[in-house]
Amino acid sequence: MDVFEKCHAMAERSAPVRAAGLYPYYRVISSAQDPVVTHDGRELVMLGSNNYLGLANDPEVKEAAAMALAIYGTGCAGSRLLNGTLDVHVELEGRLAEFMRREAALTFSTGFQVNLGVLSCLLDRSDIAYLDALDHACIIDGCRLGFGKHHKFAHNDMTELEQKLANAPADRGKLIVVDGVFSMEGDLAPLPQIALLKQRFGARLMVDDAHGLGVFGENGRGTPEHFGVEGDVDLVMGTFSKSLAAIGGFVAGDRYVIEHIKHTARAEIFSAAPPPASMAAAMKALEIVEREPERRKRLWENTEYMKRELSALGFDTGHSASPVIPIVVGEDLASYTMTTRLGQEGVFVNPVVSPAVPPGRAMIRTSYMATHTREHLDRSLEALAKVGRELSIIG
Ligand code: PMP
Repeated sequence: MDVFEKCHAMAERSAPVRAAGLYPYYRVISSAQDPVVTHDGRELVMLGSNNYLGLANDPEVKEAAAMALAIYGTGCAGSRLLNGTLDVHVELEGRLAEFMRREAALTFSTGFQVNLGVLSCLLDRSDIAYLDALDHACIIDGCRLGFGKHHKFAHNDMTELEQKLANAPADRGKLIVVDGVFSMEGDLAPLPQIALLKQRFGARLMVDDAHGLGVFGENGRGTPEHFGVEGDVDLVMGTFSKSLAAIGGFVAGDRYVIEHIKHTARAEIFSAAPPPASMAAAMKALEIVEREPERRKRLWENTEYMKRELSALGFDTGHSASPVIPIVVGEDLASYTMTTRLGQEGVFVNPVVSPAVPPGRAMIRTSYMATHTREHLDRSLEALAKVGRELSIIG
């Protein structure tokens, strides 16, 4: 048996989609991550980006990144543990801890690495993690890397979570890990109910707030702030790759826990430090999150407008309660076709097919930015209506 055999199978699977001109992945963008992007020499309204606050091409953020680049150079050439810690890492961690109202924070080179590193170093043989079935891939991978067990409960099913917690031997350490905002469906974890279960069963709670940070809560501290349960969340992770306009991630919590992670998370100590330009960009973006709440307000105005208009057109937007608004289209092929046709009509969206969603529930994922204008949104709605009718997704 050849280990490469499976690679032919992958090529065969995608061949008909490619032959039909519907292959939707690795599309090349040749402009900044703005509300309108350039793809294949054409301008498309971007409805597929996590640049929620529109800061990824902001002049002030870029200037901060350029300044850090000039001072520190392009890379750190080593891990944080050894030679890679710069004053900008430490300063950003201090600001994140203060912003999140936690004792300490630790940055990683990507958000994905945060979950790999944190979960694998926290889960010993005696521990059990409880994961929502729709948790992000890096949460699952982080648990797989740890020595502990992990159990999945059906998406947002509190009865199943309760049963699973009740069945656990009393001497086991228990950690519930959920996305604050689920990245494909755009719905929220019921944090108040989860907090009650956590208390009842003596578990710990970690929230991946990649899509909540800067978006939810009066001050942008994310879904725990939105639900008023920050005191019940023991660890919060966030990324810089969405609202914070850069690349990298962090975990924030009690100092003794962060100290443990800092010295044992392999994704941190055996990987080079995140680059200084990204740290400076994230720091400036965080400052803007605090200084300009009106950005969050605009993002929510755009989100509410689109949710209303998409529903009025007859689209099924699932249980979205965030700037991530899926449109359920049914079969995988319909999702590819809709993505391609929307591209031709001037709108960039992302297809979501099985196994990311159950078979028959394929969708296109749309997401919104504070910097989309009404004109961008209306142009997109016109294209969505036209293509939706053409493919009989709406009447
Ligand atoms: N968690 C969630 C919920 C995400 O959606 C993502 C990225 N899409 C990550 C973690 C990983 O973050 P990053 O892209 O910064 O590696």
